[in-house]
Amino acid sequence: MIPISTEIEDIFRPAQLREDEYLEENGLIYCSKCHTARQKRIEVSGRTIEPRCMCACQTASYDQREQERKHREFLDMVERNRSVGLTDPVLRKHTFENDLGYNTKQMGMAKRYVENWDEFRKTSTGLLLWGNVGTGKSYIAGCIANALLDKGVPVMMTNFARLLNKLTDLHSGDRNAYIDSFNTYQLLIIDDLGVERNSEFAREQVFGVIDSRYRSQLPMIVTTNLSLKKLQNPGDLARSRIYDRVLERCMPIRVSEQNIRDLNKKANLEQAKRLLRDT
Ligand SMILES: [Zn+2]
Repeated sequence: MIPISTEIEDIFRPAQLREDEYLEENGLIYCSKCHTARQKRIEVSGRTIEPRCMCACQTASYDQREQERKHREFLDMVERNRSVGLTDPVLRKHTFENDLGYNTKQMGMAKRYVENWDEFRKTSTGLLLWGNVGTGKSYIAGCIANALLDKGVPVMMTNFARLLNKLTDLHSGDRNAYIDSFNTYQLLIIDDLGVERNSEFAREQVFGVIDSRYRSQLPMIVTTNLSLKKLQNPGDLARSRIYDRVLERCMPIRVSEQNIRDLNKKANLEQAKRLLRDT
């Protein structure tokens, strides 16, 4: 005969009454705080057993602890994703909360992109932020990256110069695997399309990155100093097959009203002047 383990035998022993419990008229143990059962009665192979269970207040406190644990796990995951996806620490300061109020219209569109992310993700629609140097395109892209990371979406933000350096260092056989590895991120943001070295190798690698993303049906956000006109008519086939894919998947947004770097310099100078006057 197979011996029954002591744990199983325990089920058949009468439960001990604890300090915060009482015995109800039905013979089951109840919680003296919430007055719900801490014991249930069930039939098992002709025998009645009365195993313990959680009362309402124990269940509520268990649920709350679980919720807190899950929230901590979520925050840890967000931080891990942020440290992998935003390798440049400056990008972590690019948030809607830190926004100084430039490019109000474009910032509004960036916020709506984040709010409607599920829809954009489904239709693999990205953004093309284009305009002159120093107008805040990377800032806007960074805000989108941080806001989506906060929602738990894995985002990678990099730039073409860094990508090309990495691809140049890799053996040709490893390049495709490296490029395809970006498809583990729900959103890929690449800064500065068009500043890559004017070589066949560079153009081929940029095409590889854009084409892999295009085929993955995952959205990308691209920033560029090139004008929309230049992107539509680059003048050579190698570039047009890159830009055509970007234009097919990314909604163009012009960011060029003001030169933010100049505005910041001016603001800093004005602040310095004020400080000098005050002392
Ligand atoms: Zn209770």
